[in-house]
Amino acid sequence: MKPSDISRKSECLCHVEPADLTPLPFPYEDYNDRTITALKPDKIKSIESSLDDTVAVGIPKPAGEEEEKAFVERFLAGLKKLFEKENNWTFLQPLILSMEHCAKCQTCSQACPVYEMSGGKDIYRPIFRAEVLRRIYRKYIKPGGKISARLTGDIDLNWTTIARLAELSYRCTLCRRCATVCPVGVDNGLINHEIRKLFSQEMGIAPKEIHDKGSVLQLSKGSSTGMIPLAARDSVEFIEEEMEEITGCKVNIPWDVEGADILLLHNAGEMLAWPENVGAFAIIFQAAGISWTLSSEAVGYDAVNYGLWYDDVQFSRVAVRHADIARRLRVKKIVMGECGHAHKALTVIADRLLTGDLNIPRESAMVTLDNIISSGKLKLDPMRNNFPVTLHDPCNIVRSMGIVEPQRRILRKIAPLFREMTPHGVDNYCCGGGSGFAIMSGYNFSEWRTLLSSRKKFLQILDAFSGEPEDMPKYVCAPCSNCKGSIRDIISYYDAEERSRIYYGGLVELIVNAMTDMKKPIISFGGEPSWA
Ligand code: SF4
Ligand code: SF4
Repeated sequence: MKPSDISRKSECLCHVEPADLTPLPFPYEDYNDRTITALKPDKIKSIESSLDDTVAVGIPKPAGEEEEKAFVERFLAGLKKLFEKENNWTFLQPLILSMEHCAKCQTCSQACPVYEMSGGKDIYRPIFRAEVLRRIYRKYIKPGGKISARLTGDIDLNWTTIARLAELSYRCTLCRRCATVCPVGVDNGLINHEIRKLFSQEMGIAPKEIHDKGSVLQLSKGSSTGMIPLAARDSVEFIEEEMEEITGCKVNIPWDVEGADILLLHNAGEMLAWPENVGAFAIIFQAAGISWTLSSEAVGYDAVNYGLWYDDVQFSRVAVRHADIARRLRVKKIVMGECGHAHKALTVIADRLLTGDLNIPRESAMVTLDNIISSGKLKLDPMRNNFPVTLHDPCNIVRSMGIVEPQRRILRKIAPLFREMTPHGVDNYCCGGGSGFAIMSGYNFSEWRTLLSSRKKFLQILDAFSGEPEDMPKYVCAPCSNCKGSIRDIISYYDAEERSRIYYGGLVELIVNAMTDMKKPIISFGGEPSWA
């Protein structure tokens, strides 16, 4: 399939059949005849669904030619802004470099888990969507582009092209594995990010889960979970009680302590879905005698910043709120909890935004925890974690930020049966839920995610535990909230808890589980305590 085929009107550009997908091994062969369930015609009659039998965004079809024309014009106006210095000072330079240089060697395709797991469907090549944008850019933005387009490859810019491109930008997890292998430094992840940005900032097109129920909700209520400050405090109060009940350890979680050494930012989803993660952080910080605090101000108790994936404006609003809360609390540094995208958002991408007194030192919890463990302040018995453990490397923490060793140093001290996935570290594979996918479940998208974008991770997990008895509990350590959500969904979809006794959780839970001060284990497997 050629990039120009994206503008060819058809009912579906690319079908994914069960036989296309990389097969799963024993005891999961019965899943090999599954593919994405077709959406009911009445559900999709008024939205764009002609890309790949899947819908993530759901762009309304135009009512007539006038609307269609206006849609194309809005896209072109946004495209122009994307390549203007004053409108895209954040990413213009790497975007142009990636637009201008591509040797078409396809090395990136071999690195992309979505392309590989799909059985090599052309539309999922990293270069496919990049090349669509590149041709439109050359034709409409570069001088003399309309003439040279005939030589370099033309694309008909119609409503179908644009709507499919918007959907296609949500078939890539922005894991940037492709970028690390490109011999000329093209970043197809960045190109995809910029496509999403154009659609969101200029056309108001973005998945509801990350925009309306994500950034907008966070800025208006205080958290993308919808939790207002009072509810966050209630949740944490409940966590304090629960921690005492589970571990026998009394814990106090401090709020709004001015001048504390650390402002800890959790993904607020942890408070609701994985309260033991929030509690485990508190137990560790308390035992290590750390001066720390949470913030009860709206946005200050939720590290989430979904704008990182699709919209610079939303991104900046949240990042500035985070830094300003830390500034007013006069903390010495911000520590990012187990949330990968929040790490990258506030520590790396926001770096050019947070200047002056907003430039508060920011640190990864992987580093903070490594320092605590290395200091010897916690008494640990690794034999309490005497079950197979493997580590998932969140793309944003590991590949994008280079934080590879701190979490491993910890695991080598507390998990005697720790084994690496293949490959791991900066070569890791995404959980499949990156860039918002873990929380996107509209239409039939969650099925696409589980069957396709998370498939490689599931195979890696099975491989890491191959050779272990089926009835022995196994722990996937995923120190990122979104990754945990994605891994939870894989385990549930493939019935892996029942079939292979695979469980998942964070890093802090493993640390607390090994602490000799705990009277009872924090980790249990299907209700069975991990140690007696
Ligand atoms: S690896 Fe780089 S140069 Fe090769 S096709 Fe991919 S983007 Fe182009
Ligand atoms: S960023 Fe990841 S998912 Fe997206 S094209 Fe590159 S390798 Fe594939």
